[in-house]
Amino acid sequence: MEQNLAASRLQVVEASGSNYDMGYEHGTKCSQKIRRFSEIFIREAVQRTGMGVEKVHAVANLYLPLMERSSPHLVEEMRGIAAGGGVSLEDVLLLNLRHEFMFGLRTKQWTNCTSVGLTSELSSTGASVIAQNVDLPPYFHEYMVLLRLKPRSGPRLMMYTAAGTVGNHGINSYGLARSSNALASKREKALGVSRVVLSRLILQQRSTEDSLDTISRADRAVSGNYMLTDSRGDLVDVESTADDIRTLRPTNGFLVHTNHILHPDIAETDTGVAEDTYERYTQMTKAVSNHKGRVTPEDVEGWLRDHTGYPGSVCNHSSLTSVAALVLLPAEGKMLVCHGPPCKNEFQDFAISS
Ligand SMILES: [Zn+2]
Repeated sequence: MEQNLAASRLQVVEASGSNYDMGYEHGTKCSQKIRRFSEIFIREAVQRTGMGVEKVHAVANLYLPLMERSSPHLVEEMRGIAAGGGVSLEDVLLLNLRHEFMFGLRTKQWTNCTSVGLTSELSSTGASVIAQNVDLPPYFHEYMVLLRLKPRSGPRLMMYTAAGTVGNHGINSYGLARSSNALASKREKALGVSRVVLSRLILQQRSTEDSLDTISRADRAVSGNYMLTDSRGDLVDVESTADDIRTLRPTNGFLVHTNHILHPDIAETDTGVAEDTYERYTQMTKAVSNHKGRVTPEDVEGWLRDHTGYPGSVCNHSSLTSVAALVLLPAEGKMLVCHGPPCKNEFQDFAISS
């Protein structure tokens, strides 16, 4: 399956206007992808949870009132996606509840990821940088798109995300960037704000403080790790469980995060996502620590391609695959996107304003 991951080109999806309008445009432009992805997703959800299709839809619907309360504008966007994509709102809800169906419903892991953040002192660009590999089941690759949104109010957004979803890794025009990594802890609950929705809410913020506040106030169901930087160059990593958050600050100008909880206050709640998390953490930390001088985006691309410890390497080929790699340069309003495993594919440059 992996050898085909470079075959499809990355679809760039532009949308503007009200949330419903943006959703409708996104849905229309990605209708085939959304319909196929939705079919696969429901099949997987049924298989992994042991529920029937009706029950899966019924569970997805339980999240709707929570989303209506916390982010009615994003529910409107999902309605637009459903109308434009020719699928039901429940189908779109499910695509936006990926993590909850993985962790909240106690099914197997579906995502890992390795993140690295550099302060402006360490980065050759003179501004802070965040990068990550996106580790997912290989079939996700053909449904990933670059979504460029120009909302009626608030910042412009550029995200690398699955078709039909409202948010994921990316940057905004205020100079904020966010990566994320899967975490699992004992402190999770059945219902709450979807992690995809929370990811989008974070990307609507101006600063790391506002983002922290957003994460802290959210009624979270599952755990997650978010690496953030803003236009002032503040770089922070946020480990969150359903009932707690802890922050980590750079040491020697950098931060690394994989899929285990690092903060001593909450580390004992970790229930583990991926066996290779420690190896990837050690390898990426070594790569940054051993680097001499300032770090260029090309250096970071090289770290993301690393195969030490293969198949559980930073460029992952274990139960999941690094289906993409991202270098986020929010100060320049740019993302370097490698659509496919970074060991076999090139990075392309995308600007938030085309
Ligand atoms: Zn590789």
